[in-house]
Amino acid sequence: MANALPYLVFYAIPFFALLMALEAVWLRARGARAVAQYERKDWLSSIAMGIGNMLVGAAIAPVVHAAMSFVYAHRLSDITMSAQSYVALVLLEDLAYYGFHRASHEVRYFWAGHVNHHSSEHYNLGTAMRQSWTSWLSGGWVFWLPLCWLGFTPSWVTFQIGLSLLYQYWVHTEAVGRMPPWFEAVMSTPSSHRVHHARNAQYLDKNYGGIFIVWDRWFGTFVRESERPTYGIVTPIKSFNPLWIAVHEWVAIAIDVGCFKGARAKLTAIFGRPSEMDALRRSQKRRRV
Ligand SMILES: [Zn+2]
Ligand SMILES: [Zn+2]
Repeated sequence: MANALPYLVFYAIPFFALLMALEAVWLRARGARAVAQYERKDWLSSIAMGIGNMLVGAAIAPVVHAAMSFVYAHRLSDITMSAQSYVALVLLEDLAYYGFHRASHEVRYFWAGHVNHHSSEHYNLGTAMRQSWTSWLSGGWVFWLPLCWLGFTPSWVTFQIGLSLLYQYWVHTEAVGRMPPWFEAVMSTPSSHRVHHARNAQYLDKNYGGIFIVWDRWFGTFVRESERPTYGIVTPIKSFNPLWIAVHEWVAIAIDVGCFKGARAKLTAIFGRPSEMDALRRSQKRRRV
């Protein structure tokens, strides 16, 4: 039945709505300051981004499935799904997500697709809906191809990608403080993901984990939540227009590639670290003076 495995996110929409309603009740009970975590325009932009993500995802799905099927046809082994192989899939899919997510912050080409998820200055379950329109178009799915090469069917890989996204929904809230220490040690939680969405200097480019936080602990990208997070991106986008939210970093890349002198600088504008861009722009300006 592997070919009939569903992409779970489509079926979870009522569950998303119910949890958002519960969060709104919780915020109201906490008073006006907490309610300010929801801003109507911001929330509507996030919902529009979520709907756009699903439409683009449905359009690109045949291409992704064809690429996965091609790699699966050249697989290393035949993996029969069992309790053990499913545990292996859960762990390996989460490692693939860690790689994708880390590249999405540290390589500007992938950041251009991911930045919109971080563009809200609020942090609530609505923010979780603020998904990319361009990540899958620009090939972010390549990070999952090794799973098909190992021998997991494209349907099982797609199923697990959906399950991981479902897990990641609940971590986008201030309604949950810290979970028990054993849980915080292993799992991605609201506390660790608040750090990921913060623009406080010590929180930048940290806590990439999807379901598990152990990858961050092992690869040195974990930071514990201490001071209160300030949410959003370092240079706020100041727009609620979903189309601009989706494409603004791609436009910035095109402008930089057009302005920068030299092939090396142009390539860095596309594949360099997003955090290097301000320094690169300053050095390019000095070259022109
Ligand atoms: Zn991120
Ligand atoms: Zn997030």
